[in-house]
Amino acid sequence: MAGKEPDTAEDIDDDDDDWMKYANTGFGETDYSLWDDVAPVEEDEEHAVEVAMQLGTHVEEIPRAPSAAGHKYLVRQGTCDACLGRVGGKRMYGQSLEEAGLGVRTSVVDQDPHLENAREEAPLCPFCENLFEEVDLLADLIQEAIAPYDLSRLQLGARFPKDQMETEEDMRKRLGAGGSDPLKSSLVEQIGARLKDRLEGVALVNDKPDILALIDVLTLTVELDIRAVYVYGRYRKLERGIPQTRWPCRACKGRGCERCDETGLQYKRSVQDLVGNPMLEVFEGTEHAFHGMGREDIDVRCLGRGRPFVLEIKEPKKRAFNAEKLAEIINQAANGSVEVSSIRASSRSEVVRIKDTPAEKSYTIRFTIEPMNEAEYAVLTAPVDMTKEDVQQRSKKRRRQRRGDKNADRTKPLEAPIDVPATGPSEAELKAMKKPELVALAEQHGLAKNGKKDELVARILAALPPAPAEFELPDDATILRVIEGMNGLKLAQRTPERVAHRRSDLIRKRTVFEAHTPFIEVNEQGQREIEFTLRCESGTYVKETVHGDSGRTQPCVAALIKAKCNVLWLDVGDIHAD
Ligand SMILES: [Zn+2]
Ligand SMILES: [Zn+2]
Repeated sequence: MAGKEPDTAEDIDDDDDDWMKYANTGFGETDYSLWDDVAPVEEDEEHAVEVAMQLGTHVEEIPRAPSAAGHKYLVRQGTCDACLGRVGGKRMYGQSLEEAGLGVRTSVVDQDPHLENAREEAPLCPFCENLFEEVDLLADLIQEAIAPYDLSRLQLGARFPKDQMETEEDMRKRLGAGGSDPLKSSLVEQIGARLKDRLEGVALVNDKPDILALIDVLTLTVELDIRAVYVYGRYRKLERGIPQTRWPCRACKGRGCERCDETGLQYKRSVQDLVGNPMLEVFEGTEHAFHGMGREDIDVRCLGRGRPFVLEIKEPKKRAFNAEKLAEIINQAANGSVEVSSIRASSRSEVVRIKDTPAEKSYTIRFTIEPMNEAEYAVLTAPVDMTKEDVQQRSKKRRRQRRGDKNADRTKPLEAPIDVPATGPSEAELKAMKKPELVALAEQHGLAKNGKKDELVARILAALPPAPAEFELPDDATILRVIEGMNGLKLAQRTPERVAHRRSDLIRKRTVFEAHTPFIEVNEQGQREIEFTLRCESGTYVKETVHGDSGRTQPCVAALIKAKCNVLWLDVGDIHAD
């Protein structure tokens, strides 16, 4: 790591101005005369500066290392051996800083024996404030701190008060030999050299460390930044009712209460926990984060090859893993509700890729149908009002553009009242009601409420506007033809109400790329159940594509076949990415 400043430590210096408060280096002010050795006795520094300014020339420099006068000056100021070696300009290949510094000191003392005790007379090294004397202690501290962790890449950094850095830099440039190593990188290098022999199989690196050990030179302490372990995989969710990520209890916001059995969770299980908790044990980490390539609703299964994800384990003590064995541990613990595959090592940068990949997906959906009347049809096919407010203009706050919203119309649709003629209940609906309900209905419309049930039904039917006409249920051939004809269908989807609390109210354009293999089965109740698979653009609301969401998704299967569609279930099949 010679000569290179660890980026991270540098960044911390820049970010952390608080350190300035502690900066009291003492040697920053030039309270010693810079001219002792070279200037005529009668000329003081101030005078020299003035003269130099009048002449328009630079102040004459005091001699720099590696000149003999420069070395003498450094020794006189109490510079330690390590710093003499560092800024003295005499270090030879293979020599330690201290060896090189001792060489410089010896030659100075040979010329000037009274400088032999310079370090006792000026015991604080003006360059490092004797930090180099703490190198062994700091190496011990680091070794002790990282002992519980598996690692193969260690990066060292140091946090210095800003003015200590600046003063040293200034002094080194004035007095040190050209090309002298900076204090921070040099100190870090010295510590690294001590550690190198002690840590087997650990490389000292300048980037992508497993652990960054940050030395605080003011307190002589070490802080560890333990980098997370990332594991890639694909999951299949074989059971409904499991959310993808942990969902904090609504009542206690995750603190734990009676409602959630002190778990802090709204749902006891999540894909995140089912996958992450066993990994937490394997890696001995502190917590996990789940990054999925998109998500499916809680009641939607995820089948096919599974959904890609990256699981992040924070502060792991263990890093190495056997992919197959890890998958086995997870799958066994999940007991059939979730299944992982394609496990391998991942990285932080892959998290970004996973999050940013818009994935087309295949879904399988199953639904039943019911008769639809004209009024319901009018709602499903009412023109979507395109005169709308601009959300961007309305809201001064900058809205984060979500992935998948790029093609969306960034305007909020206005409510569009639909003109539906007044209708009454049908005879069948009335007959299905209980007598008290009929009585209440008659009373509501100012009709006599006496008589038998049949009389009430007849009276209400006669008084209220007629029930809307119902369409006949489509035959099998029509249903299959409509579904097969959905290939390439362009949808306008207004944000469904069920997700309106977390997504802005927009109309998004989505495409059904393919709808295939529709089939119809008759269930035990004699109802027809229709099932088909469709592949559509990332971000398509699939259930809405079938039932129409009260006209918010157009067109929809329900409007196309003129029958109400009740979705039984939805599964995610393949995710066509990765
Ligand atoms: Zn020093
Ligand atoms: Zn709770």
